[in-house]
Amino acid sequence: MQIDIITIFPDFFRGPLDHGIIRRAREAELVRIGIRDLRVFTRDRHRTVDDRPFGGGEGMVLKPEPLFECVESLNLAPREDHAAAKQSVILLSAQGKRFDQIMAAELASFERIVFICGRYEGVDERVGTHLADREISIGDYVLSGGELGAAVIIDTVTRLIPGALGNEASARQESFHASAEVGADALSDRNVRPTQPDSTCGSGGLLDYPHYTRPAEFRGMKVPEVLVNGNHEDIRRWRRRSAIEKTLRNRPDLLEQARLSEEDKELLAEIQASSSWPLGY
Ligand code: SAH
Repeated sequence: MQIDIITIFPDFFRGPLDHGIIRRAREAELVRIGIRDLRVFTRDRHRTVDDRPFGGGEGMVLKPEPLFECVESLNLAPREDHAAAKQSVILLSAQGKRFDQIMAAELASFERIVFICGRYEGVDERVGTHLADREISIGDYVLSGGELGAAVIIDTVTRLIPGALGNEASARQESFHASAEVGADALSDRNVRPTQPDSTCGSGGLLDYPHYTRPAEFRGMKVPEVLVNGNHEDIRRWRRRSAIEKTLRNRPDLLEQARLSEEDKELLAEIQASSSWPLGY
């Protein structure tokens, strides 16, 4: 995958893209990331990238010309062929579609992604309507620039590129992941349920289950007994129950969408009936 980031602050990306999984994915050439300095595409002495808004009002707006010229310099397919060529030009915008794990999986299948980072009051609307293929927001809040948004999306997408994570299975079991393999059917059919706990607790749209590591007791805080001494089936059930419990507590909206197996529904009823719910938290 080739990623280009168009920004007026190229130095901003020193750091966020140089560590951990992204760094390794870059070193392994699973992903190439180019930072494009928007000011290079200006033509005046002052290298002006912004101007006052038509119609008046506060602040400045990023001008269209340098952004169009910068994207055009990247040798993408003609705009109408972007989808077929697995290319996407993305404008970071608080007004965009909200980014989530499903969108991340879609983007991970692309071959080229270009991020346009806005600043100031935003970007001339013609960039959104005639240059970008889509507008994406990373959440319902206003950032001062698109750079952090681009970094968030790149981080999320890169770890989904096959080979980027050491253990392919780890992405499949995480929060939000809704996979057919771990869906209601697989979980409710005891005959097809694998025996290893680490391959049976996929989230199916729930939040991840809690993780613990050594020491088994730290400052009086103990790791749940079942994880230390339990058998695979007990561990699997505990993890599933904990994932449901955590989702119910922190993100009940996700639970409504999740594909729950018969066992999940039993666990949910058990949690809601238990004396520690919701007082235990
Ligand atoms: N006036 C705009 C905010 C501009 S903030 C509005 O009210 O919608 C400046 C830039 O930060 C935007 O052009 C965009 O590129 C980026 N930005 C701000 N919030 C964002 C968000 N939630 N997601 C992605 N990018 C965002």
